[in-house]
Amino acid sequence: MENTIDIDTIYPRNLLYWDRMSSAEISDYLVRVPAEKRLILIVWGVIESHGPALGLGSDSMLAGLAADEAARRLYEEKGLEPIIFDAWKNVGSLSATRNFPGAIGFHSSVPVIREIWEQTLSRMFKEGFSKFFLVNGDGGNWMNHWYGLKWDSPVIDALLKQGMQLEGGNWDQEGGAPYLHGGHHEHALTTWACYHAPEHIRLSAIRNRLRAPDTEILKKIDGANYAYLEDVSHREHDWSTYPDQDRLRSVTEFSLAEYQKLLDSGDIGKDFDAKIACLMKKIEAMF
Ligand SMILES: [Zn+2]
Repeated sequence: MENTIDIDTIYPRNLLYWDRMSSAEISDYLVRVPAEKRLILIVWGVIESHGPALGLGSDSMLAGLAADEAARRLYEEKGLEPIIFDAWKNVGSLSATRNFPGAIGFHSSVPVIREIWEQTLSRMFKEGFSKFFLVNGDGGNWMNHWYGLKWDSPVIDALLKQGMQLEGGNWDQEGGAPYLHGGHHEHALTTWACYHAPEHIRLSAIRNRLRAPDTEILKKIDGANYAYLEDVSHREHDWSTYPDQDRLRSVTEFSLAEYQKLLDSGDIGKDFDAKIACLMKKIEAMF
């Protein structure tokens, strides 16, 4: 059979992933790239329910899509060579979907997540990396862990005093429309990235393991309007106890017509662009 799949197309050479680089390539990077131009983009999400049609790792996968696109633009437009680090992108916060089958999160009162961060950032800082930008895709991570890490960790505080820069963005809530959990935006973005986006984004969807939702399943959640679940006071609650959740699996708002409109009008692509532009602004401010 003819070999039609090209690994160098799927993984362009100028997109650097920490775990695909060799130890020698990290050394080369540190020689080639001046200290003030080195950048690590950290991808962060969680394993939680996102409706009956989207993968449990949707937050991580979409954050990976955003990080890939930011890295591509930083390389092509700014001549920067960020390294994407996503080794624990799924190690995230316990959420309101914690009791749905398949959800795996970590409680903020257990220091697992903070310790992983502290040790990894310490290690990378020692290697010669000092600029870190977190592309976060899960609101629970942000509320339960990011602030604690940034403001309450003596280890991180000491690194910041030594010159480490640690910034981040809740990428899907900043620029464009804020996404509701498991809503039509999330579904449309996944479909767009898999089938309709420019090729470099469709390749990123493959690298990040995105899978477009099945239309037959979407028909079954059409009309869901449980947006009230997004109220802060409900965040602590167990969403699996709300009505109809065996079918909805934590979808807060879904309209098939809205989903289709976002795809047909191209608005979902424009929304992605607006979010990436916002992300780029924050990253560029570190230089
Ligand atoms: Zn989430």
